[in-house]
Amino acid sequence: MVMYVKILLAFVALTINTTAIMAQEKIKQTAGRDQLGDFAPKFAELNDDVLFGEVWSRTDKLGLRDRSLITLTSLISQGITDSSLSYHLQTAKQNGITRTEIAEILTHIGFYAGWPKAWAAFRLAKEVWNEDTSAQDAKAAFQREMIFPIGEPNTAYAAYFSGNSYLAPLSREQVAVSNVTFEPGCRNNWHIHRASSGGGQMLIGVAGRGWYQEEGKPAVEILPGTVIHIPANVKHWHGAAADSWFAHLAFEVPGEDTANEWLEPVTDEAYRALK
Ligand code: MN
Repeated sequence: MVMYVKILLAFVALTINTTAIMAQEKIKQTAGRDQLGDFAPKFAELNDDVLFGEVWSRTDKLGLRDRSLITLTSLISQGITDSSLSYHLQTAKQNGITRTEIAEILTHIGFYAGWPKAWAAFRLAKEVWNEDTSAQDAKAAFQREMIFPIGEPNTAYAAYFSGNSYLAPLSREQVAVSNVTFEPGCRNNWHIHRASSGGGQMLIGVAGRGWYQEEGKPAVEILPGTVIHIPANVKHWHGAAADSWFAHLAFEVPGEDTANEWLEPVTDEAYRALK
């Protein structure tokens, strides 16, 4: 329990820190001066320095994603579907709104603001999110659930995994810690963390739902905050639930003569039997 509280505190501290950094970064906007600087210098200044430089930049009060959502809704509700809407759709994508979400947002707005306005907005949104796939959407949505990065495709260990996983090394000093992310259904092979003394591995669930199983024992569910202690020289596997993305922190416990021994995959039959 104490460990759990400490980790929660670490999460809170990291979140506050991130927000503080974001709040210091003012948005630089030049559209006003670029397009109207000679014709209407005061309007250009208000657009670039006040609307974007001050109001949009108050990210410690309201995040950029929320501000994009409000701006899109306001523009579409007025029937403004010109280049300014295109600009704000692109900005919304940069601020983390996914293809799946923009489709849902515009459908919702359509009922309140008017069907033809949604049609007009969809025409522009399709161009902006044209290249995105639903798989990328799911990964982006999962990233928003956790403060640790998903990292890069886990190619170095791909041979020992069923399905796609991602690896983000977090610490390479004192204790090695990585965030490991599994797509739904992904799990690693049976394996053993060998050591002649000490060693083993600790897992802490970060987001989503997953499993840990020691040979000869029932599988244990891992949820955000769940702490798993894996002794050295014990055969086991870990991974996502069939219907959920999953991420855990993996701590390499220091020991002597440590080495990983990778064994056979967890069969589909055994995996499907998990409840
Ligand atoms: Mn392990």
